[in-house]
Amino acid sequence: MTQPIDLRALDLFAFCRAGDDATGEVAARDLPRIIAETAAQAPASAPDEVFSYALSGFVEEEASEPGKPAVERLFIDLAVNGRVWLDCQRCLQVYEQLIATDMCFEVVASEADADAAPMDDDELDVIVGSKRFDLLTLIEDEVLLALPVAPKHDVCPTVHESLVTGVDGQAEPEPEVLPEEEKRPSPFAALAGLKTKH
Ligand SMILES: [Zn+2]
Repeated sequence: MTQPIDLRALDLFAFCRAGDDATGEVAARDLPRIIAETAAQAPASAPDEVFSYALSGFVEEEASEPGKPAVERLFIDLAVNGRVWLDCQRCLQVYEQLIATDMCFEVVASEADADAAPMDDDELDVIVGSKRFDLLTLIEDEVLLALPVAPKHDVCPTVHESLVTGVDGQAEPEPEVLPEEEKRPSPFAALAGLKTKH
């Protein structure tokens, strides 16, 4: 079931137990920490950029000691897609960084439970749930975590020579014909010209 949800006050426990799904969009303007990361030279429309999210909740029951009820563990899967305008550290020009993140979280009841949770799984994070959970902030966290530490174009459109450093400096390939050589007539072309005069 996909239904509208309150991004700032979602009953996350109920959402998981119901096995609910939700999808929607969030505008960058509602994510102040993303706006803070956005390049100054980003297009004026940058605050209108939308991030799409897909949230699904589920429960896993783990067998516990014999005779005791199974332990119920709550999870959410949150995927966020969109783009952020950043300054390229190599050419200093603004570029769009695509964001595509997908993370699974175990939803626990308290900070104490979160502290007690084993932290041995890179693919699984632990969050403290709430009956009025702020999903918007979690979406913002996910986008921030997905931002590159050193933002760069895959290939810069133009690179000033002073900024090209070692193998990391991916300058455009040199043009095959340098402009100066272009102006100079090739000796063969001149020869060909002479031949046609006869
Ligand atoms: Zn660049």
